[in-house]
Amino acid sequence: MKTYFIHTFGCQMNEYDTGRLEQILQAGGWVPAVSSSQADLLLANTCTVRQLAEDKAFSLLGRWAKMKKDRPGLIIGMVGCLAQHVGSKAYLRAPWLDFLAGPQALKRVPELAEKARRHKRNHDFSVYDDGPEDTASSKQASSAYVAVMDGCDQFCTYCAVPQARGREKSRGPEAIIEEIRRRAQAGTKEITLLGQNITRYGWDAAGAMHLAELIRRIAAEVPAIRRLRFLTGHPGAFTNELIQTMAEVPVVCKALHLPLQSGSDAVLQAMHRGYTSAEYRGLVARLKKAIPGLVLTTDIIVGFPGETDADFTSTLDMIAACDFDLAFCFKYSPRQGTEAAAWPHQIPQPEKEKRLAACMRLVEEKAIGRRVKWVGRKVSVLVEGPDPKTGRRLQGRTPENFIVNFEGPQTWIGEEVEVEITAAGNWAFMGDAENTAAGAPFLRA
Ligand code: SAH
Ligand code: SF4
Repeated sequence: MKTYFIHTFGCQMNEYDTGRLEQILQAGGWVPAVSSSQADLLLANTCTVRQLAEDKAFSLLGRWAKMKKDRPGLIIGMVGCLAQHVGSKAYLRAPWLDFLAGPQALKRVPELAEKARRHKRNHDFSVYDDGPEDTASSKQASSAYVAVMDGCDQFCTYCAVPQARGREKSRGPEAIIEEIRRRAQAGTKEITLLGQNITRYGWDAAGAMHLAELIRRIAAEVPAIRRLRFLTGHPGAFTNELIQTMAEVPVVCKALHLPLQSGSDAVLQAMHRGYTSAEYRGLVARLKKAIPGLVLTTDIIVGFPGETDADFTSTLDMIAACDFDLAFCFKYSPRQGTEAAAWPHQIPQPEKEKRLAACMRLVEEKAIGRRVKWVGRKVSVLVEGPDPKTGRRLQGRTPENFIVNFEGPQTWIGEEVEVEITAAGNWAFMGDAENTAAGAPFLRA
């Protein structure tokens, strides 16, 4: 019996790809190992968005190299975005690697592993043109990711994604709807549609319809799906039709991740984001007007090359003005082959640290102010399973994607239940299902 173990770094798309890779491996006769120490094949599905992700991947590969000393037959492969981005240079940093495969070449992994067994090192960075495929992947049985497109044509000057994932390629709507239908039949209630630049779904040559129409079709044709989300929308491609769809289609969650990156027009332009701070603010105003109670989250990069104190202050001002429910703040990380990495006026590390701390302080202050307002409210929670920290309580998410922990029986897993929020913590809410509607807590059969 040939066994595999996959470690996944990075975003939801990588999680989705890992699910796809598992399907491919299992079709090729591989079975999952209980742990990395018992696997014949170790795979790192990697991320290249920031240097930290790259360092983590190579440090894991270093630990795996030690295992290979004791078990010379062990096969180690590096797949995904970092493999594509660094290419065969990865063999210089990790000479014990047996093979490399880019995110669009995952179907070649069984063949590459087989060659490695015969002591042949190999790699495949090809972009196969069949685009994302079906997968059985899911975060939890109740909730699943479905890729609707891959790649990105925006070429933000800091970002390695276009190099790692190639050009935008939309998947046909029929295949997407069919996959969602199958997931719904298997009990999935929540679907997150994935794409690096999902608001541009259908804008490429292969596109048959835009995101708004796709969402309406999914809602109409697969009524068993109670919650529909999408990630990640670029503000520049956010149409009024999409805002209307979010407002009108009840199953679309009233939560949106809308990366801002910077509040300074000069920096936004240098980043090649394609919008100004006023346009972003205008979009937020239209969204909040059309969708009352919208929960809005964002990404911020601090310390982009040339970012002045005044630019950074503009970012803080925007964070205050937009009143985000949460913002993920990152220090700019120069990525090989991207435009901005070669620019002068790189910001020194200590200054980046200082700006990051200031940014996170403001975000947290704003976020906690918004989170405490939820205490006392009754919310619908889709129960995902036991709280991974305590194992005792249950954990689930609200339509706004807030995590809620509360006491309840295991039989609630996979169901939507009504819970009263009793406290707001740093990352999650505490809740109480007993104090809510008497009798059966299920919101829907
Ligand atoms: N497609 C998404 C983002 C993908 S990367 C979008 O455009 O919105 C996820 C986040 O990582 C980005 O929003 C950005 O904030 C951050 N990021 C990307 N490249 C980075 C870099 N070189 N340094 C620091 N943060 C980066
Ligand atoms: Fe990267 Fe910009 Fe594309 Fe997002 S839109 S994946 S940040 S290039």
